[in-house]
This record gives sequence, C-alpha cells and structure tokens, in this order.
Amino acid sequence: LRKRKLSAKTLTERIIKGDITLLSRAITYVESTLPAHQELAREVINSCLPYANNSIRIGITGVPGVGKSTFIESFGNYLTSLGKKVAVLAVDPSSSLSKGSILGDKTRMETLVNNPNAYIRPSAAGDSLGGVARKTRETIILCEAAGFDTILIETVGVGQSETAVHSMVDFFLLLKLAGAGDELQGIKRGIMEMADAIVINKADGKNLEATQRAKVEFNRALHLFPPKKNGWVPKVLTASAIENKGIDVIWELIRLFIEQQNSTGFFTKNRVQQQKYWLWQTIEERLKAAFYEHPEIQKNMPIELEALELNKTTPFAAAQRLLELYKPIIE
Ligand code: GDP
Repeated sequence: LRKRKLSAKTLTERIIKGDITLLSRAITYVESTLPAHQELAREVINSCLPYANNSIRIGITGVPGVGKSTFIESFGNYLTSLGKKVAVLAVDPSSSLSKGSILGDKTRMETLVNNPNAYIRPSAAGDSLGGVARKTRETIILCEAAGFDTILIETVGVGQSETAVHSMVDFFLLLKLAGAGDELQGIKRGIMEMADAIVINKADGKNLEATQRAKVEFNRALHLFPPKKNGWVPKVLTASAIENKGIDVIWELIRLFIEQQNSTGFFTKNRVQQQKYWLWQTIEERLKAAFYEHPEIQKNMPIELEALELNKTTPFAAAQRLLELYKPIIE
C-alpha cells in the first residue's frame, strides 16, 4: 500500500472537514515511534488545537466481562441516534495490536463499527501507561477537530489505567455487576471515589432483583465518601446493555452533570486542572526516562546495585552518587 506523503497543513484541513481516512492516518503518526512521524503528528496536533476541546469526554471502566463493549455499542448507537458523532478510544497499556487489544477485535461492537457517525480506534500499543495515555490524549484532540462531539474512552479495571483515563475525561462511569450480597467486596476504593456514576449492568432476566439490591448497597457505600469538590453527588443507575435498557437515563444524567458543572464553572476548571496534571506528568516521565537512559547511569547503576546487594552501601548513598553523575541530556 503506497501512501502519498501529505503535509501537516493538508492533513489538518482534511481532518477538520471530517475525513476519517486521514484522521486515522494522523493517529497512526501520533502512535508511531519514527521521529519524522512524531514531528508531523506534533504539527498536525498544534494546528488542530483551535478546533478541539469542544466535545464531552466520557470514561468507561469495569472488570473484563462486565459488559463494556456491549454497553459502549448500545450507548454509542443511542448517541448517534440523537445526532451525535461518537469516537470510541481505549487505554490499555498491556495490549498491543498484534496481541489483540480491547476494541481490537472488530467483531465486537459490529453495529457501532458500521455506524457512519461512529469512529472506533483500538488502544495504542505500548508498554508504558504514560506513553499510551499521551497518545490517547492527542488522539482526543484529533477526533474533536474531526467533528466528534462525544468521546468514549474505555479502560480495563486493572492497574493505574483508570487514574490515567479519569484525568482525561469530564465524566467517569464505572460499570459493575450485581453479586450475591457481596457487592462491595473487592472494589478498589479509589475507583469508587473517581466515579461520577456507577452503572450496574446486566439488569435483565434473572438478574433484575439482585441488581436492585446492589443499587441500594452501592448507594449506601457512596454516601460514606466525602463530598466531591465540584459539588456533584455520584449516582447509581442500572442498565441492560444487551437489551438497550437504561441507556437514555444514563445520558440524561451525564447531561445534567455537564449542565451543573458548566453553571458552577467546574467544567472548565477541571479541564484546566487536567492540562496541568498532564504537563507535570509528562515532565516527570521524560526526566525519569532521561535519567535511566543516561550512559553514566547505565554504566554505574549495576555497580551501585551490586554494592547494595553486598551491603557495602545504603540506598540513599547510592542514589546520591548516581544523581550526582547525572548530567541532563534531554533531546
Ligand atoms: P467487556 O469484557 O467488559 O467488554 O464485556 P462484554 O461487552 O464483552 O460482555 C461480556 C459478556 O456479557 C458477553 O457475553 C455479553 O453478551 C454479556 N453482556 C453484556 N451486557 C449484558 C447485559 O446487559 N445483560 C446480559 N444478560 N448480558 C450482557
């Protein structure tokens, strides 16, 4: 497949017109490790910036099997039926395209894949969460410039990826299942605290009663958390992704959230805060990487580690010596 080389200007112009093929190509540049691609990606992102920032960004998390794909398909199709343009992204640092990432399997979400007003992009490959998260944030900008007004970002309920997604979305939705009276066991406290809504999925068939019980339990649990600074009180809802039930209520809740947050100024405040967070985050990552990749550090680290093993030094003294050896070379 031969591709004509396009300038950043042409790419940007076509993306803004909603050209999905070129949007995809620009995202490929964002994800590429080739310096020439990265340079081009930076230029395109910069010129897309004035056209971005105008969507609603919604994070969706939950353990595997809870029904994320099914829910996103149902929710995405509902949103397009309201005239919205929906982009679906994923953050999954453990995945690579070859291994088959979440969203990578296109047989899932089949109707959404074929929906002309939806765009689905699997998680960028990569082993560092920071790297994957950066690529997703840049992809959000490109999707917004291409006219997508609702961005859904899926992540799996493991590791730090939820924190990363939480810090790039306006609304964070936690999908849960009703259990047998032990709903609250095994829930990471941090995730409950991040959630703006908990949706108990699979509220259908034999599950219905258990779902109602779970709703009560989760509501009770949510009240134990301190109130959020933005004044929002998280809600518990139920849904059946497979039967498309409760989907409209979830969207109503999100609309209410946005309205409320806009009226108090917290919507913008949160986005600005997120921008700052990513600036700090990026600096920390780059500094750390530069340190560990530094030739002097690479040479001396094994020596210090051995000294540590032999009890000939302390971690603090070793760290001090290594830090003194470090002369920054950040490209
Ligand atoms: P994910 O791993 O979180 O993306 O979950 P999937 O969307 O792949 O769903 C896992 C399984 O649960 C699949 O067999 C779905 O058909 C099923 N499922 C998803 N949503 C519902 C629902 O609302 N009700 C029922 N009964 N099953 C569902």
